[in-house]
Amino acid sequence: MAYIYESYDVVVVGAGHAGCEAALACARLSLNTLVLTISMDSIALMPCNPNIGGTSKGHLVREIDALGGEMGKNIDKTYIQSKMLNISKGPAVHSLRAQADKQEYSRTMRKVLENTNNLTLKQAEVVEILAEDHKVVGIKTYSGAIYPCKAVILCTGTYLKARCVYGDVSNYTGPNGLQAANYLTDSLKSLGIEMYRFKTGTPARIDKRSIDFSKMEEQFGDEDIVPFSFTNTAEDIKKEQVSCWLTYTNEETHRIINENIDRSPLYCGDIKGTGPRYCPSIEDKVVKFADKNRHQVFIEPEGNYTNEMYVGGMSSSLPEDVQYQMYRSVAGLENAKIIRNAYAIEYDCINPMQLKPTLEFKNVEGLFSGGQFNGSSGYEEAAAQGLMAGINASMKLLGKEQVVLDRSEAYIGVLIDDLVTKETREPYRMMTSRAEYRLILRQDNADLRLSKIGHRVGLIDNERYEKLMEKEVQMEEEIKRLENTLIGANAEVQALLEQYGSNILKTGTTLAELIRRPELTYEMLAPMDKDRVELPKSVIEQVNIYIKYEGYIQRQMRQVDQFKKMEGKLIPEDLDYTQVPSLRIEAKQKLNQIRPRSVGQASRISGVSPADISVLLVYLEHFKHSKNN
Ligand SMILES: Cc1cc2nc3c(=O)[nH]c(=O)nc-3n(C[C@H](O)[C@H](O)[C@H](O)COP(=O)(O)OP(=O)(O)OC[C@H]3O[C@@H](n4cnc5c(N)ncnc54)[C@H](O)[C@@H]3O)c2cc1C
Repeated sequence: MAYIYESYDVVVVGAGHAGCEAALACARLSLNTLVLTISMDSIALMPCNPNIGGTSKGHLVREIDALGGEMGKNIDKTYIQSKMLNISKGPAVHSLRAQADKQEYSRTMRKVLENTNNLTLKQAEVVEILAEDHKVVGIKTYSGAIYPCKAVILCTGTYLKARCVYGDVSNYTGPNGLQAANYLTDSLKSLGIEMYRFKTGTPARIDKRSIDFSKMEEQFGDEDIVPFSFTNTAEDIKKEQVSCWLTYTNEETHRIINENIDRSPLYCGDIKGTGPRYCPSIEDKVVKFADKNRHQVFIEPEGNYTNEMYVGGMSSSLPEDVQYQMYRSVAGLENAKIIRNAYAIEYDCINPMQLKPTLEFKNVEGLFSGGQFNGSSGYEEAAAQGLMAGINASMKLLGKEQVVLDRSEAYIGVLIDDLVTKETREPYRMMTSRAEYRLILRQDNADLRLSKIGHRVGLIDNERYEKLMEKEVQMEEEIKRLENTLIGANAEVQALLEQYGSNILKTGTTLAELIRRPELTYEMLAPMDKDRVELPKSVIEQVNIYIKYEGYIQRQMRQVDQFKKMEGKLIPEDLDYTQVPSLRIEAKQKLNQIRPRSVGQASRISGVSPADISVLLVYLEHFKHSKNN
C-alpha cells in the first residue's frame, strides 16, 4: 500500500563508494538528504580487492580529497599497509595504494554518515523513480513507501538484477550473498533509459592458516608513508603495517584451467554481461596470453579482524572443484582452504552517454547517477563520480553554478568526459594512459588544482583554503629565491657535488640550475643554501618537481591552452544538428544523440571527424553573427 513519508531535497539510492560521497556532499552543502541502501551492514562495502588507490586510482582518491570528499580521510584511518607505486618512474605516474581493513573501512564510513547533519540513512530497496513531465518528484520503495524529493542520485553499483555465478552454480543475489535489487531496472526503462548488462569477477578468499608463506615473496609497506588526505601528515596516521605476499601461477595452473575451460560460464556463454578488459579473470589471462608461463598472484589480507586472504590476480567463475585444483597448484597454496569461492557477477547499468557532464540524465531532470551504475569499475572511480553527482545535484537545487572538470584539470574530468562522450561497451577502469595531460595531473598537486573549486562549492572550509593559499605563496617564493640564489664554484660546493656524483661547477650558477640536475634534489643542496628556511614537506615536493620538470610542464601547459580554446567554444543546448549543412549523416546522428557541451567535447565523439568539426565551427560562427544582428 503506497504511503507518502517525509520529503527530502535529495534521495541517494545506494550507500556504496559512490552513494557515500554523493550523500555526504549534499548533506554538507546543507541539503536535506536521505540515503537508501539494501543493507545497513554493507555501507562502503569492498566486495573485491582490499585496497584503495593504485596507478591512476590513487590520483582519483587525492582529487576526491582535494574537492572535499571523504574516501582519502577514510582510508587514512583504516589502512593496514601503504605504498607509493612507480617511485622509480616520473612523478606523473607515482601512485599511492593502501591496503584496507575492509570491515574497519565500512564501519568508519558508516560512522561518518550517521554523524553528519542533514543526512538520514534507511535500509530499504528502491523499486521506482517517480517523475512528472520528465522531472523527478520522488522515489518508491519495495514496501510502498513514497519519499517526495527534488533530486535523486542513483548509485546502485553491482546490485540491479544481479546474478552471481561460478561453474553451474548461479544465485540471483548481490555481492557476498546480499540481496539483489530486482525492480528498479524496469522503472528506469519505463523512463526511456537505455540499460547495459555488465559483468565483473572476484577471486576466492583463502584461510591464512592454510598458506605456506615461505614459498612467497613478502611485500612490505613503505617506511615513510604518504597520507591520501591533504589534511593529514604522515605523523598523524603512522601505524604498524601488515605484509602482502607475491607468488605466481604456473604451467600446472594453466593446464587445469585449459582442461576445464568448457565448464567456465564465461566460455560456455552462460555469462552474458560484458567484463572489464583491464581486470581480466584468470581464465581470460590464460586463454588470451597463452604465451605467458606464469601470472603474478598477490596474497592480500582482508583486514586485522580476519584470517581471510584475498588472492589478487586470480578472479574466476570456474566450478568449485576446479577452483580447488587451480588455487592449490600455486606455490604456497598447496593446502589452501577456500573460505569464499571465486565468482562472477552480472548486473544492470546504464549507457553513460545518456548523461550530461554534470552526471544528470539528459531526459529526466533532477535524476543524477554515479559509480558502477554508470559503467565504470572500481571503488575510486565510483567515489569520484558520486562526489561530482552530489556536488552538481546540490548546485542545481541551490541555484549555483555546477562543476564540470575538464580533461586538463583532473583525472575525474577525464573519467566523466570519457564516460559521457565515448562509447563504453565494457566496465571502464581509469588508467594514466587515458589522461593526455598527466604531467600536470599528478597525485601530488591535486590540492593545488582542485581545492579552490572545493572551496567555491562549499566543501573545503576557509581554514583549509587559507592553508592552501599559504602553500602556494611558499612555493612561488621559494622557487623565485632558488632561481635568484647564486652559488659560487667554491671548494665546499665542489665537494658536495662530488659527494652526489654530480659534475663540479666551472663557473657560478643558481640553486635552481643545480636542482635541475637529475642526480640532485632540493634536500641535497641544504649545506650550500645558507638562507634556506624550514618549509613543509609538501612545499618542498612541489618545488623539486616544478624546477625539475618546468620545461615539460610549460610545454604541456601550452597544449592545455590549445585544448581549452576548443573546450571554451560552447554549443547551444538546443542546436539541431540536422540543420547544419554539409555535416555528415553519422556526425549529425552522433551529435544529436550525445549533444556535446563544447566543440572540444564534440571532437572526441567517435564518428565525428575533424572535417565535421571545421563545418561545425563555421556554422557556430555564422550562428553567433546571425544571433547578434
Ligand atoms: C564480485 C565483484 C567483483 C569486483 N571486481 C572488481 C575488480 O576486479 N576491479 C574493480 O575495479 N572493481 C571491482 N568490483 C567493483 C567494485 O566493487 C565497485 O566498483 C564498487 O563497489 C562500485 O561502487 P558503487 O558505489 O558504484 O556501488 P556498490 O559498492 O556496489 O554499492 C551499491 C549500493 O547500492 C545499494 N543499492 C543498489 N540497488 C539499490 C536499490 N534499488 N535500493 C536501495 N539500495 C540499492 C546497495 O545496497 C549498495 O549500498 C567488483 C565488484 C564485485 C561485486
